[in-house]
Amino acid sequence: MNQPPRRLPRGIPAQAKAIAYDARVTECLFCKIVAGEIPAEVVHETDSTVAFRDINPQAPTHVVVVPKAHHPNAAALAEADPVLAAALLRAGGEIAAAEGIADSGYRLVFNTGTGAGQSVFHVHCHVLGGRPMAWPPG
Ligand code: AMP
Ligand code: ZN
Repeated sequence: MNQPPRRLPRGIPAQAKAIAYDARVTECLFCKIVAGEIPAEVVHETDSTVAFRDINPQAPTHVVVVPKAHHPNAAALAEADPVLAAALLRAGGEIAAAEGIADSGYRLVFNTGTGAGQSVFHVHCHVLGGRPMAWPPG
């Protein structure tokens, strides 16, 4: 029997989009670390942020601090939730102090886009220090 092809009813796309978004977040490495589904060496936590040691450290101190909520990059976070963006920066400063690199100097880095080295598309601030930080960066 020839059945006409099934079509999604109109009005569904918003719901479908939400499901697609959920799937992306579910697949996000840093969302999984926030949820405790992937282990990490957590060094700092607030109501809205989590920080853990980078698995491939680029300096004697290399901590990654993320908002618990998923935002793809720093600019998107600042646009969507400036209070959370400020909380992320504040956490970076607190981590630098706790790691003993506040006085010697440290760097907060937000790689944005693949060309700049972003590999995880959940915004994260690299807290780097414990060695002279060259300028310009590589
Ligand atoms: P970016 O390349 O700026 O997106 O930074 C992502 C960072 O996440 C890199 O420095 C990675 O070494 C780090 N990273 C990847 N997987 C893990 C993990 N499971 N635990 C801790 N850090 C990780
Ligand atoms: Zn995420």
